[in-house]
Amino acid sequence: MRRYGRSFPMIRSLLTLLAGCWVVLSPCCARADAIEKVNADGVALTFDACETRTASRFDEKILSYLIEQKIPFTVFMTGRFANRNRKRLQEISRLPFVEIENHSFNHRQHMERLTADEIRKEAQDLDELMMEMIGRKTKFFRFPAGNYDRKTLRAIEDLHYKVVSWTYPSGDPDKSITPSRLTDWTLSKTRTGDILIFHINGRGYGTGEALPSIIRNLQGKGLKFIKLEDGNI
Ligand SMILES: [Zn+2]
Repeated sequence: MRRYGRSFPMIRSLLTLLAGCWVVLSPCCARADAIEKVNADGVALTFDACETRTASRFDEKILSYLIEQKIPFTVFMTGRFANRNRKRLQEISRLPFVEIENHSFNHRQHMERLTADEIRKEAQDLDELMMEMIGRKTKFFRFPAGNYDRKTLRAIEDLHYKVVSWTYPSGDPDKSITPSRLTDWTLSKTRTGDILIFHINGRGYGTGEALPSIIRNLQGKGLKFIKLEDGNI
C-alpha cells in the first residue's frame, strides 16, 4: 500500500502534465492562422462592406451585375453599414447565391488592441444584428484591415467562427488603380482555390467597372465561383 501511496502523487503530476500538453497542443479546432484559400475547385469572390467615418452605401454597379449574372459571392458586413443599407441587405440575403458574413460591428482597425471580451462582443453584436435583420447567423469572420494576432484569432475561433482572410490583396481601395490595371492584376494572380477580396461599399473605386471583364475572363479559363460555405474550409 505504501508503494501505491508514493506513486499516486507522481501519477497525478504526470497526468496533470499530460493534460496540460493536451490543452497546449490540441486546442479544439484552433488554426495557426486565418484561412487564405478554399479547398474546392473554385474561386471565392468576397467583398467587404465597411463603414467607418463617412456614410457608405452598396456599390450598385457591382451588386446589380452579380445579381443579374447570378454569380455566387460573399459580403463581410459591419454594423453601421448594415443599419444604413438595411432594405437592400434584406433583399440580397434572400438570394441563394449570396452569403452574408461577419466583419465585426464597429470595424475597429486594430482588434488586436482590444480585450478578449471586447473582441468577442464585436463579433457577437454583428451576429445578433444579422439574426434580427436577415434571420441568419454568421459563421465566417474577417478582421477589419486584416489586423489580428494569436489572441484575437483565438477569441474569435472560440465563438466557433472560421476566420477568413484573402489569397492576395486586389488593392481596390487605392484611387490610383484604374479598372484596366485592376483587371490585369487580378487575372494575372488568380488561381483555383483563391479567395478574392474587393470592396462593395463605394471604396472599391474601379471595381464596378472592372468586375464584368474579370469574371468573364476567369470563367473563360474554366474557373467557377463558389460561396465560402462550399469551399470546405
Ligand atoms: Zn473592412
